[in-house]
Amino acid sequence: MTPAEFQQRRRRLVAEFPRRKLHALLLTHPPNVRYLSGFTGSNGALLVDPAGAILFTDPRYRLQAAQESACPVRVARGWLLAAALKVARRRKLRRIGFEAAHFTCQAFEALKESLYLAASLEPASGLVEALRMVKSPPEVALIRRSVLATSEAFQRAMAQARPGMRERELAAELEYQMRLLGADQPAFETIVTSGVRTALPHARSSDRPVARNRLLLIDMGASLEGYSSDMTRMAFFGRPGKPLRQLYRAVLEAQLAALAAVRPGVSAAHVDRQARRVLRAHNLDKAFAHSTGHGLGLEIHEPPRLGRGDKTRLLPGMVFTVEPGAYLEGFGGVRIEDTVVVTPTGCEVLTPTPKELLLL
Ligand code: ZN
Ligand code: ZN
Repeated sequence: MTPAEFQQRRRRLVAEFPRRKLHALLLTHPPNVRYLSGFTGSNGALLVDPAGAILFTDPRYRLQAAQESACPVRVARGWLLAAALKVARRRKLRRIGFEAAHFTCQAFEALKESLYLAASLEPASGLVEALRMVKSPPEVALIRRSVLATSEAFQRAMAQARPGMRERELAAELEYQMRLLGADQPAFETIVTSGVRTALPHARSSDRPVARNRLLLIDMGASLEGYSSDMTRMAFFGRPGKPLRQLYRAVLEAQLAALAAVRPGVSAAHVDRQARRVLRAHNLDKAFAHSTGHGLGLEIHEPPRLGRGDKTRLLPGMVFTVEPGAYLEGFGGVRIEDTVVVTPTGCEVLTPTPKELLLL
């Protein structure tokens, strides 16, 4: 990511200010600070106003901030936001936006108390998130690398999977392989569940051994240079019976229908409806207890949400997952998840891993 790209992002953000009647924006949510300044540390605040952005951090990050960001850096010893407000005051900024969604009540009260006369705090959540929804080509390239590391790690780890291995062991192997392939870390805690526990969409991996003739759910993703990927695949040691094959085929059909619906101009909710329509036809709509997908990028869950009520119109460059599932208590669950990018004419599935039930 070049300094010019960060500058362009800040310019696009400032262009939103008049519509929101803002003179400045005070950012503290680390992914947003990173998106606009390049700084990856855990304690940073960014004051953005039309005159330019200033990055505030503490002494631990003095060197790192200067290396990572082209923004002027101020090292503050106390509370970063108090230092940022001092600069805002000097610049005579009045209407200051802040990220209400990422503020505790306590921090908000403290911020209000540090405020100077004539200035006001304006809730301005989601402004940066809206910009972040559409990825630039260098961002898509990083997500693509993240996806490939995930898929390659899956292939390598599954080649070593044996009945009797504990769920936790397989999860550790998947994460180990992702790191060897360049991931900074897993994008979230890798999920390996087996048997009836696959019916719990987000269960933790346990000490249970992976047994023969049991279904296996693997949900994994890498974070590579900050960018996430997300994939779910199903495996089976043995020969699956008819009920499982039917369940699998229904979810796959729903996933393909949702993928086919992705194109610029349609709403996020529209894609979700296509998956639900297919599952309803199989009498499985009640077994589908989450949304069809979520945006991802610097965070593993970010807008848009492919679910009921999200009217976001899809645009080329948006990256999200498509992951319908069906979960039957006492039997098991199936989810199939890919990471995709919206193209000018439809979508490209970035995940190269085959979608068939993996027989081991
Ligand atoms: Zn996932
Ligand atoms: Zn996901």
